Amino acid sequence: MKKLGLVPFLETAGGRIRCKRCQAKARSGLQCAKPAIRGKRVCRTHGGASSGPKTAEGRQKIRDVNWIHGERSARAIKQSRLNSIKLRKLADALRVLGASAGAKIPGRWPDGYQPLETTADVQQFVIDELVGRGWK
Ligand SMILES: [Zn+2]
Repeated sequence: MKKLGLVPFLETAGGRIRCKRCQAKARSGLQCAKPAIRGKRVCRTHGGASSGPKTAEGRQKIRDVNWIHGERSARAIKQSRLNSIKLRKLADALRVLGASAGAKIPGRWPDGYQPLETTADVQQFVIDELVGRGWK
């Protein structure tokens, strides 16, 4: 995550050496003037030497701190994809059964979506959905 207004690089030795600059803010409120650790975004003083949490509790703590609302979590993304597939299949079913003359839903197909082409496909879709919900 790049913050606006921070200088990304540091030049020294009359411009002959160019390296990444620490992206942390010092206590003065200004950007830290030290070079960042190689491969990291901050210097040693600002945590660049840290190798991160080691224990399961520590990793969970970091996860909890960075969790915002969960709308982009793996579970939410998967559920959104499944809902999208179900909506497209319902629209396909209406079109195959002649209940809708509308156009196909535009846009990229979600992963795992197979369009319903025949009434047999629609029957199988209905059976799968209703049996999946405990209907007989
Ligand atoms: Zn620093």
